[in-house]
Amino acid sequence: MICCAALFCGCAATAQPRITQVAIIDTLLGGMYDGSATVGQLKSWGTLGIGTMHQLDGEMLVVDGVVYQVKYDGSVIRPGDSETIPFATVVNFVPSKRIRLGNIKSFKEFEKQIPRYIANRNVPVAVRFTGKFSFMHTRSVERQEKPYRPLIEASKNQAEFKFKNISGNMVGFLFPKYVKGMNVPGWHLHFIDKDRRCGGHILDFSMLNGELEICEIYDFRAVFPAGSTHLAQLDLNKDRGQELKKVESSRE
Ligand SMILES: [Zn+2]
Repeated sequence: MICCAALFCGCAATAQPRITQVAIIDTLLGGMYDGSATVGQLKSWGTLGIGTMHQLDGEMLVVDGVVYQVKYDGSVIRPGDSETIPFATVVNFVPSKRIRLGNIKSFKEFEKQIPRYIANRNVPVAVRFTGKFSFMHTRSVERQEKPYRPLIEASKNQAEFKFKNISGNMVGFLFPKYVKGMNVPGWHLHFIDKDRRCGGHILDFSMLNGELEICEIYDFRAVFPAGSTHLAQLDLNKDRGQELKKVESSRE
């Protein structure tokens, strides 16, 4: 009977949204591309998220608990549970607000308009947008071989993709400035189309209409690869803010 009671308790409880991130953005900027957490672990930690795969093999996103990898050639695959991830941010996404959006002409305009819908801008926020875009500009990165170069070098050959009149999901996070070094301050969004055939790390877009779901998060943790000599030897005292700005932008 005790067993049963415990089981019912577990079922009834709604888990509060919690961010789990694999390593930190500065380990990725420093060239730590060997995967540590598995895709299976990531799925146990969250239903929505973004990141990259072992050896910086493309852009990764989690939508509705499904992990997608957008490769350098633009193709989309679903990595197996034993594949590994060097950097990612996931959350068990529970939206607290849903809003209809229409005609947002650019990423810049989105950045200006959306904060008014967020009650507390001093905590991390996850978003999921479902709808139509008149324009979507994404990129993906090329799989790296050892010795790994810092991300500022490795991302120089990024592939950029431009789509017109495309429907799909945009997922990602808005982090306060204080996460600098740990994650990406400001917006960081990835896209996947409705048919799950294309996507990537978002550089710019023009939105037609759709629904934005917003989830404010009050619980935040990072998981580092225990025993990693690469992590022990990496210089994490360096300010990589300028490198991050370059890495996050278009090379055109
Ligand atoms: Zn990204």
